[in-house]
Amino acid sequence: MSITAIRGFNDILPGQTGLWRQIEQTAWSIFRAYGFGEIRLPIVEKTELFLRSIGETTDIVEKEMYTFPDRHGDMMTLRPEGTAPAVRAFVEHKLYTAPVTKLYYTGPMFRYERPQKGRYRQFYQIGAEVLGDESPRADAEALSMLMKFFATLKVKGASLQINSLGDANCRPAYKEKLYNYLKGKAGELCENCLRRIETNPLRALDCKAADCIEATKEAPSLVDSLCEGCAAHFDRVKYFLRLYGIDPLVNPRMVRGLDYYTRTTFEITADTGLGSQNAVAAGGRYDRLVEELGGPATPCFGFAIGMERLALLLEGEQALAAPLTVFIALGDEAEKKGVELVSAWRGAGIRVVEEFSAGGLKTRMKRADRLGADFAVILGENELNEGVVTVKDMKQARQDTVAWDKVASIIAGAGH
Ligand code: ATP
Ligand code: MG
Repeated sequence: MSITAIRGFNDILPGQTGLWRQIEQTAWSIFRAYGFGEIRLPIVEKTELFLRSIGETTDIVEKEMYTFPDRHGDMMTLRPEGTAPAVRAFVEHKLYTAPVTKLYYTGPMFRYERPQKGRYRQFYQIGAEVLGDESPRADAEALSMLMKFFATLKVKGASLQINSLGDANCRPAYKEKLYNYLKGKAGELCENCLRRIETNPLRALDCKAADCIEATKEAPSLVDSLCEGCAAHFDRVKYFLRLYGIDPLVNPRMVRGLDYYTRTTFEITADTGLGSQNAVAAGGRYDRLVEELGGPATPCFGFAIGMERLALLLEGEQALAAPLTVFIALGDEAEKKGVELVSAWRGAGIRVVEEFSAGGLKTRMKRADRLGADFAVILGENELNEGVVTVKDMKQARQDTVAWDKVASIIAGAGH
């Protein structure tokens, strides 16, 4: 029997994790500078949390959640996204006693989707949430932080689209208008949309079926139906975005796949070369969710970045890994001294792998090469007596004799 990973669940191998770490560290250092604190959230939550937040008639809840009873029969769900768990924690730990709370998280999310490149069943997100700020400036600042993050990573061609979904004042009337429009197009909609326009007509605007995209082309626009408050908020978001040097594109069809959004929503796309898997980050405002989950009225804005798609965009752009040094000791005495030297070199920050095998120097050099060594450092009897090592630069095919206490600085400065 051969055991392989389940389809849609990936191993992230050491060749990729250097880039992943670089992305996560960049996020961390930029988000920190904007006052965000990291939160570590559980991977499993009560199913109820997602039913009440994401919405029962969304794709995620209808067909994508990993939901199961635990041994007690309590219903659990592997989190499909991080906003609802973050809000749950915000309410549970009464973080709302602070005037504003900025949270940031990274980790795996789970959705039962059709696995394909850029779309997996376990995927990773970096997310951030600003809880307790109603100002359109908060939306614009979070978006400018996100654009700065992409620019720092040198992501090419990231483009921002924004929309406003209105609020409890104006959305019901819009829903009604859209419902009537969709009723007239009933023959052209996919089965799924035909069913859900009764409860949640906005979902038809988000449907990826070609027929639905065609049928909703002329649908009434949300941004034309905003009430005064929402329209003013949206105008200010655009104004502040321009203040941050960002020229946003308004896409009135973008409704996002979660029901908790109010007012601003957005998506950032880039050329992943994967067709519709081109969104690398998305999010928006959710002014009602904290209350709906039992907390005090708290306007919020948040987003999530898709790690796999971002890593795909940056493949080949990775900062070069620190050089790898393989150490070969020849003979008992050299081995003894080697223990001390290797420990000192590691302490000085260089990456050293000891080559322990019993073969001759030639065999062991071959193994060093296959390990991908940038340098081989050899300590034989002569070197031992003279207080030096032979340092072979594997990529340049040259070698030098180097004093023990100079090895770390020479290798660290080699800049392979
Ligand atoms: P899409 O339209 O691509 O399905 P989404 O609207 O479902 O995305 P969100 O829930 O807003 O996505 O999640 C934010 C980001 O997480 C997406 O922009 C994407 O980069 C990433 N993402 C979402 N689902 C997956 C998945 N199944 N596999 C890999 N990345 C994903
Ligand atoms: Mg999706």
